[in-house]
This record gives sequence, structure tokens and C-alpha cells, in this order.
Amino acid sequence: MIIGVTGGIGSGKSAATQRFQEHGITVVDADLVSRQVVQPGTRALAAIAAHFGEQVMRDDGSLDRATLREIVFHDPAEKHWLEALLHPLIRDAIVTALQDSKGPYTILSSPLLLESGQDQLVDRVLVIDVPEALQLERTLSRDGGSEDTVRAIMDAQLSRQRRLARATDVIVNDGDLAQLNRAVDQQHEHYQRLAALRGGRTGRGQES
Ligand code: ADP
Repeated sequence: MIIGVTGGIGSGKSAATQRFQEHGITVVDADLVSRQVVQPGTRALAAIAAHFGEQVMRDDGSLDRATLREIVFHDPAEKHWLEALLHPLIRDAIVTALQDSKGPYTILSSPLLLESGQDQLVDRVLVIDVPEALQLERTLSRDGGSEDTVRAIMDAQLSRQRRLARATDVIVNDGDLAQLNRAVDQQHEHYQRLAALRGGRTGRGQES
């Protein structure tokens, strides 16, 4: 059983998935995978360097992600080109990691789970939901930067309402970290029961 975990920037995905990991659950992190597929020496990085030129490369041969992000943020055609290159590679790497994982269930953590079609890889979608004021406050205290920048990122992501509409399960992260951990603990119990049900039957259906 694969559980997709998603939420907007600063919603608490990392905090939540860390707690799942403490229960021994494997977490495949789509963000991490998306960085691995453009490591120095990969064909993807060579293709990006050939397409965008030296401006997106750092002196040490790694990708200058901030510059690349800036370019595609302002140019939809370039964004499309980059996504056409990277999305299949990221998806393949995620599928491999999910297939290799063990345990009652596995988590795929992805900020763009619903936007990128990665939700096709999961059985359930757990949304970490947070009121926007808290989301802004926590992101600013974690990353610094300006309120305008964070608001622009929030605006580019799926709205809270549309994300919630596609959730199977929701954790509202509007309390302290101890409260979040308790909510994750309960969700973990629930997923273990579901996984046991799935393992014990021959057909599909029945779960909720
Ligand atoms: P995401 O991975 O979704 O971007 P994080 O898990 O990094 O979000 O959370 C954003 C910031 O808010 C982090 O600094 C995290 O420690 C903090 N945070 C998350 N949940 C809570 C909470 N319930 N109470 C206080 N701080 C929190």
C-alpha cells in the first residue's frame, strides 16, 4: 500500500513524514529524487546544460537550481521543456524506490503529488493541511525571505480547497508539533490496519 503525502509549502510535510519514519515506515521523497536525477554525471544534467547553457551550471559542475528555477518561472515554454525531460525520469526513479521498499505500507512524499500526476502511483492521498496565515508564518521563519516571495509560491501551488478536495485523509497541522505527532501516530495505526486488511484478502474493495 502506497500513501501519498502532500501539502503546500510549509504545511508540515517534512515534520509529518519524519514522524512516520520514526515508526519504521519508508518514505520516498520526491524532492530528493528530483535532485538525484540531475546529479553531476547524469544524462539529464548534460541535456539541461546543452539546452540552457553555462548560466545554469555552477563552477563545481552541479546544477544551479535557483537560476534554472528563475528562468522557467518566467518562461512557460522552457518550463514545459524541462518538465518533459524530468518528469518521466523522476517518475521512473520513484517507481523503482517504491518497488524496492518493504514494510506494511510506504509513503511517497511530494509537494507536487497532485499537480504532477504522481498521485497515480499511490493508493491514498494524505493532505497536510494548514491555515494560510500559519503556513506563511512557518515558511518565513524556516526559510527567511520576503512575504511576497512566499505568497507567490503559495499562489503557484494548488489552492488549499482544491488540494483538500482530492484528499483521502487529512491531518490539520494547526497545533504544536506534539499535536502533529499524535495525529501522525493515529494515522499510522489506521494505515497498519488497512494494510493488514489488504494483505488478508484476495480481491480489491472493502477499505475506507
Ligand atoms: P513542508 O515540508 O511542508 O514545507 P515543514 O515540515 O518543513 O513543511 O514545516 C515548515 C516549518 O514549520 C518547519 O520549520 C517546521 O519545523 C515547522 N512546523 C511544522 N509543523 C509545526 C507545528 N505543528 N508547530 C510548530 N512548527 C511547525
